[in-house]
Amino acid sequence: MTSLDDLPLRSDLRGLSPYGAPQKRVPVALNVNENSHPIPEPVAHDIVASLARAVLSLNRYPDREFTGLRGALAQYLGHGLRAENIWAANGSNEVLQQVLQAFGGPGRSLLGFVPTYSMYPILASGTGTRWIAGTRDADFELSPATAAEQVRRAKADIVFLCAPNNPTGTPLSLETITAVYDATDGIVIVDEAYAEFAPDGAPTALTLLPGRPRLAVSRTMSKAFAFAGARVGYLAADPVFTDALRLVRLPYHLSALTQAAAVAALAHTAEMLAMVDDIRGQRDRIEQELPGLGYRPYRSGSNFVLFGGVDDPQATFEALLAEGVLIRDVGIPGHLRVSAGTEAETSAFLGALARVGRAGS
Ligand code: PMP
Repeated sequence: MTSLDDLPLRSDLRGLSPYGAPQKRVPVALNVNENSHPIPEPVAHDIVASLARAVLSLNRYPDREFTGLRGALAQYLGHGLRAENIWAANGSNEVLQQVLQAFGGPGRSLLGFVPTYSMYPILASGTGTRWIAGTRDADFELSPATAAEQVRRAKADIVFLCAPNNPTGTPLSLETITAVYDATDGIVIVDEAYAEFAPDGAPTALTLLPGRPRLAVSRTMSKAFAFAGARVGYLAADPVFTDALRLVRLPYHLSALTQAAAVAALAHTAEMLAMVDDIRGQRDRIEQELPGLGYRPYRSGSNFVLFGGVDDPQATFEALLAEGVLIRDVGIPGHLRVSAGTEAETSAFLGALARVGRAGS
């Protein structure tokens, strides 16, 4: 049998494994922070009609500038943003990769504050960018002083701020973002993948964009919008920032089907986001009930909860899986992470955790 070692693979990729959480068929999957509510049927019909129209023109390449989609995303975000402020790609992972292709690369570096989204160092490695792991304050918080001091010291070309932070759920203040921006001449990305789950009226980095051309705010339709399977991520920034990303994107990177599906979904924003309140309610319920089971949840502005006090995370993970509930061991000793699901799924998780008990951990 031929093995990877037989191929002339880049030496920095040797020995690595592909990233990805287990994709297991289980009754209750709460491991990748998806929106577990299906798309409402009337919206699905509209998306199908939009796709059907797009199929008739699949002989042609799609709109390379995805103009309609950028306009729809700008309108959704508000804050005076226009189509030229918006960039999109196949998931925000691809948007972040394009940011590193444009602004990172060999001889350049990316700073993030761990524990944070585990794709950041992987995107760095894939683009030959040096990853710098910054640290956080107690309880995974990130104060303006802590962040700015490390930004000044690291002199990184790019800083990724995850707000709220995955896997900890920790919200991030606008003060920390402006302190970081002022402490660097480099690019600052605020990854707001979970922004819609923040309390109503919570601050967003979108308000900081005017006058800050090195700042970009990345978002996704994968979470609140229940559109993970369609792969649509996007960012908002100064139009000159999107010009930079155009230099590294593949031509026609967003298929006509993706554009058609996303535009149709965005025409139904209210219905698509109707479940966000429910999900926030289930997240709050998890936070309220975990202490009674002997665990310590962290404050979360997202659709998931990190909790500590787990003696043996792998054993608890396995015991829950045996009960049909899949959650996530994010590699933080003594901790596990669970996504807030439907009310029934959340009940299944809490019930299984109570049955598994601390003895199982
Ligand atoms: N950023 C964060 C913080 C995430 O948690 C995720 C998904 N887990 C992403 C970006 C990527 O999401 P997508 O590529 O589906 O838009």
